Amino acid sequence: LSAHYQAEVGLAAQSLCGHRFSLMINAGLAVDPDQSNSDVSDGVGLYRTEFPFIVRNQFPTEQEQVELYQGMLNAYPGKPVIMRTLDVGGDKPLPYFAINEENPFLGWRGIRLTLDHPEIFLVQIRAMLKASIQSNNLHILLPMISDLSEIDESIRLIRQACFEVGDELALELAKPKVGVMIEVPSIMYQLTELAAKVDFCSVGTNDLTQYLLAVDRNNARVASLYDAMHPAVLRALYQMGQQLQALQLPTSICGELAGEPAGVLLLAAMGYDSFSMNSSQLAKIKWLLRRVSLKELQTVLRDALDSESPKEVRNKVHRFLEQKS
Ligand code: PEP
Ligand code: MG
Repeated sequence: LSAHYQAEVGLAAQSLCGHRFSLMINAGLAVDPDQSNSDVSDGVGLYRTEFPFIVRNQFPTEQEQVELYQGMLNAYPGKPVIMRTLDVGGDKPLPYFAINEENPFLGWRGIRLTLDHPEIFLVQIRAMLKASIQSNNLHILLPMISDLSEIDESIRLIRQACFEVGDELALELAKPKVGVMIEVPSIMYQLTELAAKVDFCSVGTNDLTQYLLAVDRNNARVASLYDAMHPAVLRALYQMGQQLQALQLPTSICGELAGEPAGVLLLAAMGYDSFSMNSSQLAKIKWLLRRVSLKELQTVLRDALDSESPKEVRNKVHRFLEQKS
């Protein structure tokens, strides 16, 4: 079956009705081992920079980060590479930076930690800027934004880093495109203000599901309650999609839902058209999107939104999927 999907991986991600999708990959460690992705994907929709930090036993230096980021940016010439600033805390501790908290998922995570340690943030941004001077395809993504002031403060520091690097290298550096992760529910209710501050956003359905349902994404005891196909999560994504389209804010989805066949079909029906996923899912998702029309997906979506449980949603979408395969 995978050869089946692979046969179309070089073709356009276009629905039967002619709607074009952008399909990107989520990356973690250095350059994606499967280099063929740089041809068949539309770029890197999420580079989780915390991974190279987690596998070391001390903070990588600015120069080490420059080399790491250059590898990634140069592997995707002419395509966007969306680099997320360090997203540690919660389930991702750094071995050399102790955080002891009773509620790590509600604590010192992502942007909260790096804004409290601007020296960590600035070194990382400076390294990203230096790494992208030739390739010019860097986008910066801010994780765990729950409050508008965090965006202002991050952009202030990014401008400062541009100034510092420009000064050091005697160059005029323009600020790269800056976006935020939408993964904390509060920010879903401040989209108008958010859209005025940033160039794009990326919806993290993994954390958004966790925070909407109040279910720890890694706790086996409540794992059966953690489901991005919960009708409440889908309704939230649907309403947010409508607003983001009205605001014309470029948006992609980078949580696991975008790499799931049933999930991506519902997201496409909601009007989302840019998806970032693990590289292993890309061929299958492209194959699937090439076999559907938005009109039929919207019928499935209406039916799915009108469900009482994730199970009911899944049954409805799977019935549709069975007709397609
Ligand atoms: C998410 O929360 O959906 C996401 C993509 O980020 P991560 O899984 O790295 O927290
Ligand atoms: Mg997240």
